[in-house]
Amino acid sequence: MMDKALKITPEATTGKKIPGLDPLGLRADFPILSTLVHEKWPLVYLDNAATTQRPRQVIDSMVDVYETKNANVHRGIHWLSEQSTNLYEEARNKVSKFINAADSREIIFTRGTTEGINLVARSWGDANIRAGDEILLTEMEHHANIVPWQQLAERTGAIIRWLPITDEGHLALDNLESYLGPRTRLLAVTEISNVLGTINPVAELIERAHAQGILVLLDAAQSVAHRGVDVRQLGADFVVFGGHKMLGPTGIGVLYGRSKLLKAMPPFIGGGGMIRRVRKDGFEPADLPLKFEAGTPPIVEAIGLGVAIDYLDRVGLPAIHQYEQMLTTRAHEVLQAVGDVRIIGPSPRDKIGIVSFVMRGIHAHDIAQILDRYGIAVRAGHHCTMPLHKRLGLTATTRASFYFYNTLDEIDKLGTALEETKKIFRRR
Ligand code: PLP
Repeated sequence: MMDKALKITPEATTGKKIPGLDPLGLRADFPILSTLVHEKWPLVYLDNAATTQRPRQVIDSMVDVYETKNANVHRGIHWLSEQSTNLYEEARNKVSKFINAADSREIIFTRGTTEGINLVARSWGDANIRAGDEILLTEMEHHANIVPWQQLAERTGAIIRWLPITDEGHLALDNLESYLGPRTRLLAVTEISNVLGTINPVAELIERAHAQGILVLLDAAQSVAHRGVDVRQLGADFVVFGGHKMLGPTGIGVLYGRSKLLKAMPPFIGGGGMIRRVRKDGFEPADLPLKFEAGTPPIVEAIGLGVAIDYLDRVGLPAIHQYEQMLTTRAHEVLQAVGDVRIIGPSPRDKIGIVSFVMRGIHAHDIAQILDRYGIAVRAGHHCTMPLHKRLGLTATTRASFYFYNTLDEIDKLGTALEETKKIFRRR
């Protein structure tokens, strides 16, 4: 009954081309995008801010390693171990080039963004932060960039301060100087909000923080695969991101740190692989980057991440950003046309493909559940940003997030399904 009332039909989606980017052609690389949801509806995957999908090239590369090159790295003298070590280190080089690091030894493989931040909080934080020192966060941070600093504050007596946001979802920078005081040691800030989609002016933030001798950690989880990060141009001190939001596998992430900082930091996790020598009375850590890569690392995942980077390089970040802005503009138009919808965050010009919203009288979880009936995957809840939601006076939002394999048709389907959602709730 309801399927009939809904104007969308489960036919294939169409895509609009922009120079250099062919969404329909690219979709063919992603096996999961031809999934039928509830055995009926073509998957409309709009949960890319949570995790992107992986192209066949990444999946195949990982299967190939397991089938033909699998061995532990940096340990064996045998041929197979040399193969996997070379591929693992090649992946590090690819990451290094992708973010324009000066030296691939500045690239530390982690399990994800969260682990990268914890590494810095534990290693750099414990060594450098004293009672009364200040860590500056912003009101739009993900819990991954809040809790490790709160834990550091608990251990050391440091103070957490919060840079506010405006009602439009921008960082309020008017009084920035008053937050960059003599006791401020670190600014930990997201480059792009995972809820608002806001692109923060991180180059300016880094410049102003550095002018006061304050280090900056950049959470690039939402930016690295959408706009890219040039660590040298930015002069960033620490940059963290994860593989699974950039077409790569789960279980792999990256901490970039300026080599001077990383060299001075004590190891985070101890064990095999991160030492030069172990005696009964102590140990000497290995050089970078192995000092921070204890135990068997996520070898195959790192190699898969390298292939994801090859793929992103081929598609091109400028084209991805331009295309996403087109999708986001359409999403704003479509949602506004539905009515009773409040979009949270700035206009499409100032953000990437993330559109969070609330609908009058309908809970975010109900919206997501109804959209799911039509094969549309979105996220509902606080998206690991409880302080941000509190600041906005909300407990939950619905979030649609896009990537280059989404199409304008899919955005229109979202609009139609939201209209249907409204009707369902009006009938109740
Ligand atoms: N930071 C931001 C801005 C995020 O959006 C996320 C994930 O949603 C994270 C950190 C945590 O990333 P991970 O799950 O890869 O550790």
